Amino acid sequence: MPLRLFRPLRRLRVAVLALAVAGCGLVTDYVIEPGQNSTSGQQPALLAAVPPAHLALHRSLFIADLHADTLLWDRDLLERTDRGHMDLPRMQQGGMGLQVFTLVTDTPRETPDPDPAIDHCIYATSRNLAGLLTVMESRPPRAWFDLRARAFDQAGKLLDAERRSRAPGHAGPQLMVLRSAADLARLLARRAAGEQVIGALLGVEGAHWVGLDNADEATTRAQVRDLFDLGVRVFAPTHRFDNALGGASEGCSGRGLTPQGRWALLEAERLGMVIDLAHASSATLREAVALLREPVVVSHTGVQEGCTGTCYKLRNLSDEEIRAVAAKGGLVGVGFWPEAVGPNGIEDITRVMRHVARALMQPAFRAAHPRLDPHAHLALGSDFDGAVETPIDAAGLPALTWAMVRGGMTEAQLRRAAGGNACRLLARRLPGGGAEAAAACR
Ligand SMILES: [Zn+2]
Repeated sequence: MPLRLFRPLRRLRVAVLALAVAGCGLVTDYVIEPGQNSTSGQQPALLAAVPPAHLALHRSLFIADLHADTLLWDRDLLERTDRGHMDLPRMQQGGMGLQVFTLVTDTPRETPDPDPAIDHCIYATSRNLAGLLTVMESRPPRAWFDLRARAFDQAGKLLDAERRSRAPGHAGPQLMVLRSAADLARLLARRAAGEQVIGALLGVEGAHWVGLDNADEATTRAQVRDLFDLGVRVFAPTHRFDNALGGASEGCSGRGLTPQGRWALLEAERLGMVIDLAHASSATLREAVALLREPVVVSHTGVQEGCTGTCYKLRNLSDEEIRAVAAKGGLVGVGFWPEAVGPNGIEDITRVMRHVARALMQPAFRAAHPRLDPHAHLALGSDFDGAVETPIDAAGLPALTWAMVRGGMTEAQLRRAAGGNACRLLARRLPGGGAEAAAACR
């Protein structure tokens, strides 16, 4: 081919490729994401109904949310958008104090059958939508096929947002990624002094590359330390399918922890990570609670009781599981989306909260745990930006805390469920923490 013809052709190919990449980004931003992370349209009316006196109380709360998948999407956390559920300006508007940002690397395509009578399970070989998003968002090629690299790439987005939020001239709230109990204490002190700063924790949802290929104990523990060194402080072994660490609630095996799963959880606990049993099979949850010494969380979930219609029972906690988590001093993070709590928006979120407390008042359980406070085991677990529809986004949190009050919570119970319980658990569990560090949590 003559050179003078080749050059324009090459330029054309580059231009077509650039357009294709930009086009993919636009498709994820304006076609895929709005269909995945939506709100139900109730927020303006819900916020309009919040009395001014409650708004003042809301502003005094420390609000912590145990789960959001925002890092999966092509969004700048520092910029307010109307896409998805969360960015720093909306978090500030909603009064949020702390958010767990989860690294989610494999989201299989199958959706569970809404009919619980149909035995449905998700295989690890199902098509991975997180991978497709990573390619379409033009993330670095190393993150396209390698799950660990994808997790590290997502973590990099949060650390980059933290750095830019601190830059001189940045007008919005600052982001502060917490790695220790001392960091949490600093966050609380800065917020108490009136600074606009929001805490963030890195979590992993499905550590699918840890313990692979029958890894030995030293290798498995080193793979967990690799995540700890990255800054991960919330460790969920499984996501939607069984992996090398154990069985998932929607997995096909029904199994519990593997030897690699036991080594991984013990190492994560030893390092000062919080173990998250959302998406764990019943056997994994039971075995993990028996294995571990420290409190665990189920970061985003619903309850099986009253779970009908759009609500997906298999993914939710039985009363027995709620009691097992609480007996260990752990937390149940109540989700905001219909498959977790039911179709009735914000009223279903508070209904599930009431049920968690009620399950902990069962007479036999009370007799065995007479000093346990049923409201000391509740937390928020929104699943914002987790490919779900929620009644509110981060800016709508005052409507949720008002619904919690209308649902019968006292101010003290509200302070605990909205974030006080999460603060106490993190102060105890994060590196350098302990029971005395929890005293700083209001
Ligand atoms: Zn999840």
